Amino acid sequence: MIPTLMPTYGRSDIAFERGEGVYLYATDGRRYLDFAAGIAVNSLGHAHPHLVKALQDQAARLWHTSNMYTIPEQQRLADRLVGASFADTVFFCNSGVEAIEGGIKLCRRYHHAGGNPGKWRIVTFDGAFHGRSLAALAAANNPKYLDGFGPKVDGFDQVAFNNMNEVRNAIGDDTAAILIEPVQGEGGIRTADIEFMRALRKVCDEFGLLLFLDEVQCGMGRTGKLFAHEWADIRPDVVASAKGIGSGFPLGAILATEDAARGMKPGVHGTTYGGNQLAMTVGNAVMDVMLAGGFMEHVREMGESLRGRLEAIVRMFPEIFKGVRGAGLILGLECVPTVADLVGVLRGQGLLTVPAGENVMRILPPLIVQQTHIDEAARILETVAANWKSKS
Ligand SMILES: *Cc1c(COP(=O)(O)O)cnc(C)c1O
Repeated sequence: MIPTLMPTYGRSDIAFERGEGVYLYATDGRRYLDFAAGIAVNSLGHAHPHLVKALQDQAARLWHTSNMYTIPEQQRLADRLVGASFADTVFFCNSGVEAIEGGIKLCRRYHHAGGNPGKWRIVTFDGAFHGRSLAALAAANNPKYLDGFGPKVDGFDQVAFNNMNEVRNAIGDDTAAILIEPVQGEGGIRTADIEFMRALRKVCDEFGLLLFLDEVQCGMGRTGKLFAHEWADIRPDVVASAKGIGSGFPLGAILATEDAARGMKPGVHGTTYGGNQLAMTVGNAVMDVMLAGGFMEHVREMGESLRGRLEAIVRMFPEIFKGVRGAGLILGLECVPTVADLVGVLRGQGLLTVPAGENVMRILPPLIVQQTHIDEAARILETVAANWKSKS
């Protein structure tokens, strides 16, 4: 008999009932160090007092009115995101895949508005993940996720990650945009080279294409800058954001330049829930913390410290770990044993991590992580690695 909860996940049977900072507490009273952060979502950890207060106050006042009316909190968050980024304009939605789907529409609409409706295809990359809508699945082109869902949505041409020759060869008269994650999350913490990101900007300028970045996982401070593309010092045309932007409240955003958004007029795109008072209040509270002086420096400092500890662990246990990938606090440990097995044993020892592609373990602590938490995580990793042989 089918479970009443549709069985689309193979879940652990641990249930958490409370969180505080980087710790989660299960119903059996056990404490876990959360270096998964709800898959890079809980950017400010659990039960952050500033976020809790903001949400509680707003919850007692007003939840939702729809986008038929002015939402001052939405205007404020858009102004702040524009002020802190490349963007001139922002559309709010509820999730990463909505930001991707809307961004794809924006790219096609851009060329339509410019008198080139024949430009509608998008160049994408192997190892990508863009979410679970039909278009996002076609963009990522992962056979595992596409299987059984009928004809693949047309309009995506996939090439090898970090391969400029393949990008150039894939561009045709019908190309509208290039879509890439500056750091692939699900694909295994694969980082686009800085020079590759710059070359993508150039090739987009050369052919009149939009550079559309999926920063759903690697953006909002994860790499130690508000957006990962800032490390390459380039200006994208469109960025999809979600995950860390709401620190656990469902929130996504499409950020765009004025030119890229030229096709977006009243009635062209919409959402019922997107940008409602609850989400915007939390989004603004997240920005209060992230824009405060020293926040990004803290992320970079903790990232360097964690990376150093992981590299030492790789040297100590070469039969368990092969290398470290990533940037800031979006790090990956290349595993020798099956990553899912390692993640399971670490969980049993009180450390939460996330499996990814290429047998890589994602290490994604809340950005408010402190040195003591990094030391604690490193000790658990060392203990599990040292005892691995006897376990397997
Ligand atoms: C998680 C993720 C998405 C999809 O976000 P949802 O909120 O699950 O729809 C898209 N792109 C990337 C890079 C992601 O990590």
